[in-house]
Amino acid sequence: MSASAILPGATLGVLGGGQLGRMFVHAAQRMGYATAVLDPDEGSPAGLVSHHHMRAAYLDEAGLAELARVSAAVTTEFENVPAEALERLARDVPVAPGADAVSIAQDRALEKAHFTRCGVPCAPHAVIESDEHLRAVDEALLPGVLKTARLGYDGKGQVRVATREELEQAWGGLKRVPCVLEKLLDLAFECSVIVARSRTGAMVHLPVQRNLHRGGILAVTEVHDGAVPHEAAQQAIDAARAVAQGLGYVGVLCVEFFVLKDGALVVNEMAPRPHNSGHWSMDACNVSQFELQVRTLANLPLVAPRQHSAAVMLNLLGDLWFIGGETAATPRWANVLALPGTHLHLYGKADARRGRKMGHLTISAADPAQARRVALDAAAILGIEPF
Ligand code: ADP
Ligand code: MG
Repeated sequence: MSASAILPGATLGVLGGGQLGRMFVHAAQRMGYATAVLDPDEGSPAGLVSHHHMRAAYLDEAGLAELARVSAAVTTEFENVPAEALERLARDVPVAPGADAVSIAQDRALEKAHFTRCGVPCAPHAVIESDEHLRAVDEALLPGVLKTARLGYDGKGQVRVATREELEQAWGGLKRVPCVLEKLLDLAFECSVIVARSRTGAMVHLPVQRNLHRGGILAVTEVHDGAVPHEAAQQAIDAARAVAQGLGYVGVLCVEFFVLKDGALVVNEMAPRPHNSGHWSMDACNVSQFELQVRTLANLPLVAPRQHSAAVMLNLLGDLWFIGGETAATPRWANVLALPGTHLHLYGKADARRGRKMGHLTISAADPAQARRVALDAAAILGIEPF
């Protein structure tokens, strides 16, 4: 199926107004599109910079109708957007990704079933929805991580459990909502792949990204020769493409992986949107993940991305505003920007809070050693632990 291109001058819509929506808006506007954002928050990062901002809840009928009316096509920027909202929009306007793919990504149990269908191994796990399920849990899954099937992010909605008693307690603590218990794996490191797939089935991907999480939140992403061993990288790319293909996916999809100490690759989860681990592409690649999102949404051609610089990305959490004490103080941006190849992105969030994603810093350099050196210098200035 070929679909006609939505050309610059048209309006592209996005459901959700966080930082991912903001960077989508920036990419779309750079290419000459107008933009529309639906988000209830008056000060939302994307709403602040968009041509149109519908201040409405994600299921507000009038807000959705207005978004559909002004937009030539609509995408989403966070996976917990109600699938009904996407279905409602799809009655009036092309929507990518589709509600069906987003629904699968919203539910860890469905997501794992999809990975398995695609022949991509995931962690040994069990779905827990009843006392019977709980009693039937195989000892071999302990110690494990109990995760709510829905609505978890940045390590929220997860508890590590070592024994059956802890498991029972943890499930109670999570209000006995449907959960997935995963075996705790011995990770060597984590990585992710960003894939973009068009309506016609054309697919491109970004180079494999090596990710360091701290406290369940992405802290550092490195993308350069040597960051991920070649064999694991190729396996991750093949797996990510199979996952997107299997969904008939349209848009940008991020697939996250664990690489185990024994070298095995295991898929962790997917996000039906651009991802924090792909932010480096704005500054070190000839096409960013957000431009890929624009291209897939507008039925524009996909051309294989080419990384032109080694990259390290540091997440800038609200914690950095409180290094000196209890009152928020602006981090030393001028000192960081004095380092070569630093690219500062701040999301326009008014209040810094611990654990809140305020921005990111990408370091681009001619070679991996230089990128790491500058990134470690920047980290030291900002108060980020070395890596
Ligand atoms: P979220 O949706 O919050 O990102 P994840 O399932 O990706 O949740 O878990 C967050 C982090 O916790 C992972 O990136 C990884 O560092 C760690 N983690 C999650 N599951 C496991 C596991 N089964 N074994 C070891 N570490 C895990
Ligand atoms: Mg994750």
